[in-house]
Amino acid sequence: MSKILLVTGASRGIGAATARLAADQGYDVCVNYARKADEAEAVADYVRAKGQRAITVQGDVSQEDDVVRLFQTADAELGRLSAFFNNAGVVDIATRLEDMSRESVERMMAINITGSFLCAREAVRRMSTKHGGPGGAIVNMSSAAARLGGPNGLLHYAASKGAIDTFTRGLAEEVGGEGIRVNAVRPGIIETDIHDDMGQTGRVEKLGPTVPMGRSGAPEEVAEVVMWLLSDSASYCTGTIVDVSGGR
Ligand code: NAP
Repeated sequence: MSKILLVTGASRGIGAATARLAADQGYDVCVNYARKADEAEAVADYVRAKGQRAITVQGDVSQEDDVVRLFQTADAELGRLSAFFNNAGVVDIATRLEDMSRESVERMMAINITGSFLCAREAVRRMSTKHGGPGGAIVNMSSAAARLGGPNGLLHYAASKGAIDTFTRGLAEEVGGEGIRVNAVRPGIIETDIHDDMGQTGRVEKLGPTVPMGRSGAPEEVAEVVMWLLSDSASYCTGTIVDVSGGR
């Protein structure tokens, strides 16, 4: 049976690195993106160059119609999903709570929490033996911020990732008897574009040396853990949240 993986937010950063590693490991990949079609196509080209099938699908994970269309397109063009990486997420300009707008809080919750719920729902509907599916594996994207709390700028982001930890634990139990394993990764400071969106230049360079291992991480180092959790090698892991944070 072919191995089929859908990754949300796969045009850049950790999602793109995971889509590429999946292709190296023999997966066909559905590459979701929000705005950067060219970057998504470059990831799909890499997958195809490895001899695997790839499609790109634009869609905002916070929009229910987009999410339903994303999964239906993957069904029609690739076939039944065996693995899902619930990765897409955003930060916002870093501000203390006193200056935080309602719009900023709501956007974070809509994309990082509601979007993750909607996407996982579509994956469960396809994978669960209760719905006639063959089972499967889901990895949710949390953050070390869920443990650290994000004081002085990222309270809303950290709280949204705390919700992902709770969601991972509960969903794993809910579908554990239906052939689906649900785990999460909690990365620390990883070298991607996301830090620029906080309006703090040089964030990775500044924080990297403060990590116990003395450096920031590469997206590929997170991808390795994600693909392990999705693989049969992690066959007895569910409800687990793995820190990929250099000790942070
Ligand atoms: P990134 O390089 O900024 O990439 C973000 C990806 O998400 C892009 O592919 C983007 O698509 C997509 N995206 C953004 N909003 C979306 C939406 N509403 N619907 C669908 N896709 C959307 O970020 P990253 O660092 O790889 O982050 C990926 C995940 O890791 C996030 O959930 C983030 O919170 C988490 N994380 C990152 C770090 C870190 O240090 N980098 C640490 C802990 C956790 P476009 O390219 O089309 O814009």
